[in-house]
Amino acid sequence: MMQLLSGKALSKVIIEEVKEEVIALIAAGKKPPHLAAILVGNDGASETYVGHKVKMCEQVGFQSSLIRLAADISEAALLEEIAQLNNNPDIDGFIVQLPLPKHIDVDKVTLAIDYRKDVDGFHPINMGKMAQNMPCFLPATPYGIMQLLERNGVETSGKECVVIGRSNIVGTPMSILLSRNNQPGNCTVTLCHSRTKDLLAHTQRADILVVALGKAEFVTADMVKEGAVVIDVGITRVPDASKKRGYRLAGDVKFDEVAPKCSFITPVPGGVGPMTVTSLLMNTLKAAKNKISYQEEV
Ligand code: NAP
Repeated sequence: MMQLLSGKALSKVIIEEVKEEVIALIAAGKKPPHLAAILVGNDGASETYVGHKVKMCEQVGFQSSLIRLAADISEAALLEEIAQLNNNPDIDGFIVQLPLPKHIDVDKVTLAIDYRKDVDGFHPINMGKMAQNMPCFLPATPYGIMQLLERNGVETSGKECVVIGRSNIVGTPMSILLSRNNQPGNCTVTLCHSRTKDLLAHTQRADILVVALGKAEFVTADMVKEGAVVIDVGITRVPDASKKRGYRLAGDVKFDEVAPKCSFITPVPGGVGPMTVTSLLMNTLKAAKNKISYQEEV
């Protein structure tokens, strides 16, 4: 029997948990967590993403600040804004919405963020801690996927896992997380990318297949083993004249033909997508709690 891994349903549960924790913090005389987001320029998709993050913060009782900067802001001025957020004791965590304009070096920006406030989990200190199984902020999408696996009781230990895609934000951290000596984890992981020879041979033996390459409906039924767990990270807009907005959202997996072969599968939309913002909320709550415990120690 195939089971849907619904991020839509799980994110609602986690949002309620975060809300409860905020209420408890306030009852204990603490301030609510405060997330700031920097948005450079006015790219439509980025506006939508940031707007959604801010709305979710309000929904769980966080404070939020949106810092809008002009598309032609200099790299130095952006780094100065980041330094101010690093030093502002009122801000628990912050994110810089990507992509950034071409004249700004994204690596410099990532490195400039205080890793204790890096709730996107992109700083190399957080990535390094993740690789060494130390407490850290996990990047949002992989964190969301780990929650989906854990809370749906998906067995990962000893499984053959194949990840397609090696980006810093999805594929690479997923390969690390699933290979760690942890629960979920303990998989034998193969990380595939555009230079992989005979992708089919790899995917066909995967007990767990994580697909994050950004090509609509790339994974077909013949590529998937009977009983596999399939995590579809892809979100692509596919032109569709029958839709009012002129497109539909497609995953990287041909859901209709792959789903019947699976033990678990994430739908698109409503699978991994909703978990990404939830992870950001969990990380921000954690940043606020870390700060409180640090202040109580000193
Ligand atoms: P990305 O940075 O574009 O990376 C794509 C990866 O896929 C690369 O490593 C690339 O290999 C590999 N690849 C491309 N074509 C391939 C092929 N034919 N065979 C094997 N590997 C191939 O993508 P991303 O940022 O990780 O995002 C992937 C997808 O997930 C996108 O659709 C994105 O919109 C979606 N996404 C969704 C969420 C969510 O919240 N649900 C979050 C983030 C991303 P090379 O390294 O060799 O180029």
